[in-house]
Amino acid sequence: MVYIVDKLKEFSTCMPYVPKPLDLSPPIVEGNVSTDNQTQSTMSTEQEEEEFIKNNYVARTLLNEPELPAITWTNWYKEINWPQATLLCLEPFIALYGIFTTSFAWQTAIFTLIWYFLTGFGITAGYHRLFAHRAYEATKTLRYILLTFGAGAVQGSAQWWSRGHRAHHRYTDTDLDPYSAHKGMFYSHIGWLIFKPRRKPGVADVTDLNHDPTIQWQHRNYISLAFFMSFVLPTLICGLGWNDYRGGYFFAGVLRLVFVHHSTFCVNSLAHYLGDTPFDDRHTPRDHFITALVTLGEGYHNFHHEFPSDYRNALRWFQYDPTKLLIEFFKLIGLASNLKEFPNNEIEKGRYTMVHKELEKLGRTIAWPKRNAELPIITFEEYQELSKKDDGRALILIAGFIHDAGHFIDSHPGGRALIKSYIGKDATVAFYGGIHDHNTAAHNMLAMMRVAICKYGGEVEHIKKRLGHVQTATPIFA
Ligand SMILES: [Zn+2]
Ligand SMILES: [Zn+2]
Repeated sequence: MVYIVDKLKEFSTCMPYVPKPLDLSPPIVEGNVSTDNQTQSTMSTEQEEEEFIKNNYVARTLLNEPELPAITWTNWYKEINWPQATLLCLEPFIALYGIFTTSFAWQTAIFTLIWYFLTGFGITAGYHRLFAHRAYEATKTLRYILLTFGAGAVQGSAQWWSRGHRAHHRYTDTDLDPYSAHKGMFYSHIGWLIFKPRRKPGVADVTDLNHDPTIQWQHRNYISLAFFMSFVLPTLICGLGWNDYRGGYFFAGVLRLVFVHHSTFCVNSLAHYLGDTPFDDRHTPRDHFITALVTLGEGYHNFHHEFPSDYRNALRWFQYDPTKLLIEFFKLIGLASNLKEFPNNEIEKGRYTMVHKELEKLGRTIAWPKRNAELPIITFEEYQELSKKDDGRALILIAGFIHDAGHFIDSHPGGRALIKSYIGKDATVAFYGGIHDHNTAAHNMLAMMRVAICKYGGEVEHIKKRLGHVQTATPIFA
């Protein structure tokens, strides 16, 4: 007995949450519903548009808050965000200069890779999944660690970054998305950082970030922290460790920064262009393992946009998501807790919707049998009479439907004679296993040959009643 109770408890924890129905009395409908509908339908197109703008935050904001002028060949230099543009455009050249003028030390190469992962994880596990999406909870120590390494990726403070990212999710693909993929791959990758923002990103709730002392600490000290973590510390580690100050600066500092920058930028560009949409195709985010590979696992972006507060990006064990594994490791050592996962049932529902959409698309390319309502109804006697006519038709009754197998008689795998012997008769039993239990393809092909419904024709009686056919016969062929 105890065992059963325990099992039931275990089972109930796996059950999806089902809200209890509210105990409410039925709504009192005043007036006539159709009158309300009529009122709505009398609105002019202009009124409907006005109503839409009034009730739609994006449309209202876009209309009321003017955008900066378009970037042209005459004004481009005035519209550039010079400090950011200088940093982003210069760093690859400084890295190249370093590559051609600095001798190679294997310790520095390994350290560069490690520093790339550490500062990259500061963004993916810290800025993105922890601070922007609150996909898990972290101890103060872990928050400071992630904020410190995140600063080393030189992508602004976590507060600024998360605010923009929340707007990106809330207004994806609209002009209120700070790096909307609809503005082109270059713009969503780096253009939005090189040029002054064309308009303010849409409103996003950041009250939690404003009240988080760790976030505020990083925001206040961001510049010095970024400079120290990005250039000073890697230079010192390589210099003091194996006397390679120059390699530390050029490789672990600058070259690593180029890769970290473009890795994160790919989440805004590549992840909105390359790959599949297994969960929703109404917006641009896509899943692709190449994006995952270059972004420390942030490449399953279609899943991420559908289930943003899930700590995972990749669901399957073989998909590349080292950030997910790192968060699980943080949990294992007691630094992280409450790792959020969307219910599997809802995730599968998304997948199902997309498969269903694909099937519908395929269905639209296929010719289907006539609907029952399109078919005339005749009596069995009329059917027999019509089948005697020598007009090239071969009328056969199967399961209440009269079929014209005239064009198929010579292709029938069971032979011409068999079809001929059933003309004017009810071949239901023969078709359904009496002679041969026909396969699905045969059933599908037969359905395409329907020309009429036989009155009182067995299984389809309920269809005829439902369609409200009268008991008088309609001529089969005009
Ligand atoms: Zn995105
Ligand atoms: Zn996100």
